[in-house]
Amino acid sequence: MLREVFGFPGFRGEQAAIVAHLVAGGDALVLMPTGGGKSLCYQLPALLRPGTGIVVSPLIALMQDQVDALRQLGVRAACLNSSLEAGEARAVEQALVAGGLDLLYVAPERLLTERFLALLERSRIALFAIDEAHCVSQWGHDFRPEYRELTLLHERWPQVPRIALTATADAPTRNEIAERLALQGARQFTSSFDRPNIRYSVVPREDGRRQLLGFLDGHRGEAGIVYCLSRRKVEATAEFLRAQGIEALPYHAGLEAAVRAGNQRRFLREDGIVMVATIAFGMGIDKPDVRFVAHLDLPKSLEGYYQETGRAGRDGEPAEAWLAYGLGDAVQLGRMIEEGESGEERKRLERRKLDALVGYCESTACRRQTLLGWFGEAHPGGCGNCDNCLSPPETWDGTEAARKALSCVYRTGQRFGAAHLTDVLRGADTARIRQFGHDRLSTHGIGDDLDAKQWRSVFRQLVAGGLLEVDIEGHGALRLTAASGAVLKGERTIALRRDRAQPKGRRRATGGAAQAPVADLPAEALARFESLRAWRAETARAQNVPAYVIFHDRTLREIALRQPASLAELATVPGVGAAKLERYGTQLLEIL
Ligand code: ADP
Ligand code: ZN
Repeated sequence: MLREVFGFPGFRGEQAAIVAHLVAGGDALVLMPTGGGKSLCYQLPALLRPGTGIVVSPLIALMQDQVDALRQLGVRAACLNSSLEAGEARAVEQALVAGGLDLLYVAPERLLTERFLALLERSRIALFAIDEAHCVSQWGHDFRPEYRELTLLHERWPQVPRIALTATADAPTRNEIAERLALQGARQFTSSFDRPNIRYSVVPREDGRRQLLGFLDGHRGEAGIVYCLSRRKVEATAEFLRAQGIEALPYHAGLEAAVRAGNQRRFLREDGIVMVATIAFGMGIDKPDVRFVAHLDLPKSLEGYYQETGRAGRDGEPAEAWLAYGLGDAVQLGRMIEEGESGEERKRLERRKLDALVGYCESTACRRQTLLGWFGEAHPGGCGNCDNCLSPPETWDGTEAARKALSCVYRTGQRFGAAHLTDVLRGADTARIRQFGHDRLSTHGIGDDLDAKQWRSVFRQLVAGGLLEVDIEGHGALRLTAASGAVLKGERTIALRRDRAQPKGRRRATGGAAQAPVADLPAEALARFESLRAWRAETARAQNVPAYVIFHDRTLREIALRQPASLAELATVPGVGAAKLERYGTQLLEIL
């Protein structure tokens, strides 16, 4: 059925074991990264077991796309949510009871109504799948109170297998899911959270917009997401990119619902749109060909960073995660934590998460190793696909510089931020320096061997290394820490990383942009690919579905390369199942 319906030549990772476990009637908790292939884990058992697979999903706006994709495969799928007209909903309900559905996607609030539960009593159920299961966790920002009530499925239908799925990697959330959904007895399937096709890189932010443009140069015409911290910055950045001739759209919670939905729809359906967004955007976006995720501001935590960057490259093709950060971000996020509503213990946890993230940015180690390590997954490092592995950062002996910086912090009373401290070190003559008499300090002018940018880098690294801390109540002033003394007394040497020169245009510094899926096609095959793509765009438009629902880029590329001469040959291309072969096969051969 995997080959016949989905057109895939084989299972990926744990899929085979999960499918077998469910078909045999077992419960499962599946932890798999984005793009790992979670949907198949319940779709296939739903087809193999008698009855309808009920899929609980919080993402109403995206249900229709999932249903469309399944229908293209010849699967009898439908959804029930508030966006349906009464008549449509009734037809779906009738199909369910009559046994005419393989899969039914339903929003949790709908599922929990007595009316729907009564319908389920009269239907045959193959399984319950609980997608985005981390929504049950009240600590995550995707919390859905209705998810807490889903245990009633188990109580009312104890014999129906349940599968909960999430791409959230941290252990506390995993345990909370098992507990809250009464899945302690379920078998856990945990995949590696590594996303080998994503290339990670971090740059110190100088002129963020210009740096972003340089990065985007390597991704012309490709779809991607640019994350910013604030709504205002989202708007301004989208406008700036549009002025530069890039198809960019804004997305944040402050936009009118219709505008937001329209922008999301264009991002999903059109090729090569750049979505500039706050983190309100992204959950459940299963567009497979997002080629990059760029962060113009520091995300809130490494978990957040992992989730957000995970939206790139679901199709397994090369993709890039790029982050520009400055010390000001850490100050701003730190302030948001302090001013937040959470209790002291939670704040402490949030502070630790922020520290880990700043440490990640300044690290000279393999990014993948650091990222996975935070989730408790061991990686040997040397991944060959992050900036630090591709061009190992140079380090320099920063002991002297660190001592000067720390002593300048001390002499100025631990009340100033990096910018003023840099002025003092470089012996500047500013009004502020004169006002505080800082021109009379012994540290005034002792650091003019480094320029302002280099000092910024020193201060960032001292904060990341725990040798300085940001005093949030003191408006971002830098303070000494318990660890500073050893450096000041000359008992400890400090190695600092040298910031890379800013690459111009294409990102040569990291070995060029990650290659797009078709970059390696010979000219003739590329011409065939373009014709196939034009046909796909037209076909998708006529049916009002996203293009990737018809065929993925990867499948079109294989067809263009192999040039199958018959339907039988075409059927052997991964991604061409029986339903699509019958529906589109002849047209494809004609184009070739
Ligand atoms: P997830 O929900 O885990 O993020 P999806 O279920 O959307 O991932 O699958 C990610 C991509 O991988 C999809 O494009 C899907 O078609 C593809 N895929 C899933 N399983 C297989 C497989 N066994 N062989 C080939 N491609 C697969
Ligand atoms: Zn690496």
